[in-house]
Amino acid sequence: MSKIKALPPEVVAKIAAGEVVERPASVVKELLENALDAGSGSVKVEVQGGGRKLIRVTDDGEGMTAEEALLSLKRYTTSKIDSIEDLFALRSFGFRGEALSSIAAVSRMKVVSRKGEEISGVEIILEAGVSPASKETGCPPGTSVEVRDLFFNLPARLKFLKSPGTELSHIGDILAKTALANPRTRFHFFHDGKLLANFPLREDPSARLVEALGKDVAGKMFPFQYRQGELNVHGFAGEPGLTRSNSRGIFLFVNRRPVRDRLLNHAVMEGFRNLIPKDRYPVAVLFVEAPSSEVDVNVHPSKWEVKFSDSETVHRSVIRAIRGMLEDTPWLKTPEQNRGVEVLREASGAYLPREKEVSFPHSWPGSFREGGRKEGVEDLRESHPPISFLGQVRETYLVFSSPEGLILLDQHAAHERIMLEKVSEDFSRGRVSSQSLLLPEVIELTPAEAKITEEHLPDLARVGFDLEPSGVRTFWIRSIPQILAEEEPLNALREMIKEIASWGEGADLERSFDPLLKMLACRGAIQANRPMGREEAHALLSGLQKCRFPSHCPHGRPTMLKITYSDLEKMFGRK
Ligand code: ADP
Ligand code: MG
Repeated sequence: MSKIKALPPEVVAKIAAGEVVERPASVVKELLENALDAGSGSVKVEVQGGGRKLIRVTDDGEGMTAEEALLSLKRYTTSKIDSIEDLFALRSFGFRGEALSSIAAVSRMKVVSRKGEEISGVEIILEAGVSPASKETGCPPGTSVEVRDLFFNLPARLKFLKSPGTELSHIGDILAKTALANPRTRFHFFHDGKLLANFPLREDPSARLVEALGKDVAGKMFPFQYRQGELNVHGFAGEPGLTRSNSRGIFLFVNRRPVRDRLLNHAVMEGFRNLIPKDRYPVAVLFVEAPSSEVDVNVHPSKWEVKFSDSETVHRSVIRAIRGMLEDTPWLKTPEQNRGVEVLREASGAYLPREKEVSFPHSWPGSFREGGRKEGVEDLRESHPPISFLGQVRETYLVFSSPEGLILLDQHAAHERIMLEKVSEDFSRGRVSSQSLLLPEVIELTPAEAKITEEHLPDLARVGFDLEPSGVRTFWIRSIPQILAEEEPLNALREMIKEIASWGEGADLERSFDPLLKMLACRGAIQANRPMGREEAHALLSGLQKCRFPSHCPHGRPTMLKITYSDLEKMFGRK
């Protein structure tokens, strides 16, 4: 007898199901996709026991005839593609034809469906995917798929499920993602009979943002958009002050399909580079719309991953879109001018840009213009005098009055931002400007440090330190970065050498320099607790106004705060 044999069909079905159905949330994802593919306007999701006991998704879409419904439950049966070429002109979420059969194989399923033009519907009941019994039934047009006792015949999988609360939160995530990407469909979500979430029909994507992420978060998010040929990158990103400890606040969609993608994740992070604290993550909802011929969606059984034919362009475009929005620093404007997403109502066309060419109001913060510079945004940087310096508080904060209210500057954070942009610009042109020492100093290092230093002399030169070996463990310091001219450079140099010693093999070189440049900016910047006069204060403010990213210091702290007269009036109860 041969040692190789064909697996029995039930085993094959269970193995296949394992790829698609990982947990209750995967069932919800597949059923939602089917409802959307059926053109539904309204979808109800009912769940019991975190999805273990029951998941029922009811839609008002095109429905199925009895014959179609029976076919839909077989493996690799689909109405969505005919040939492999169709994958590259795909308009639907589904295409593999295996979700219904896979889910059926590991649950007790009931499908009820009626095509609009038929007088009656069909009801099919199956257990573990076998012996479907169908009968005629009365029901509204559309489809309802009920999944009970998920994994009842797959105890191993059942064991891996988390508590109902955890499973429920995964289902909630899926629903929020689906709702974000499909604002023109209504969603209702019930758990154990209680309404948990309600997404009414929205023409305006920003309203969905409020429902999916909450008002507080949504109010701190701003739209961005960047187009390059047929590629359209758009969405909403939070101000740099809005961060999370993990990347769960980053929602990625490719052609409205929620995805997990390292490239896109990286691009979002890169957009926020040097604006948010280390180890923190921004909040962002990113939509990438690309011609289906440019995206391979057939990479992963549960369709979480995609591949771009030109991933570099996509990566670059995402960074530009987000940076473009951040450069406009809309959150520095007065509250009247700017209420986060609430003002988005005017720009609802942004959501489905394919159907409608979007034209933002002229001063719209998210309207990124090629070339990077923005005009017409009435913010601090363009409001010239009469800004007057009122004084310094605690030798740390600078207070100005402007036509709109009070401006408070943190002198160190502000100067640090200015310094970072200066050294980064020098650096990107070749090297940070340095100044030679009339009397070269000597630095003595440990053997390990000396070895690192020896190997990285050119890197140290790029950040402004010219060193020359003068013994086994000692180096002459010939020149130091200009911005450290007033400082004691030895400590800074030691810090840099430590940082360089931590560079990993094959690290992204340009990025590796970031901490060094930040260090320079921090050390070179005016410290707190230092008296400052009018001229210096004005110079600082105007220096900040010229920055590309004036709002936050390199560590993510705000550089300036604005208290408008209307804020003051509210605080004093005048209105
Ligand atoms: P796929 O979505 O990849 O085609 P599925 O197993 O999810 O595979 O569904 C199989 C087929 O059943 C679909 O192609 C579709 O024709 C039909 N179908 C599934 N769910 C629905 C629904 N909610 N409304 C109408 N038709 C549906
Ligand atoms: Mg499907």
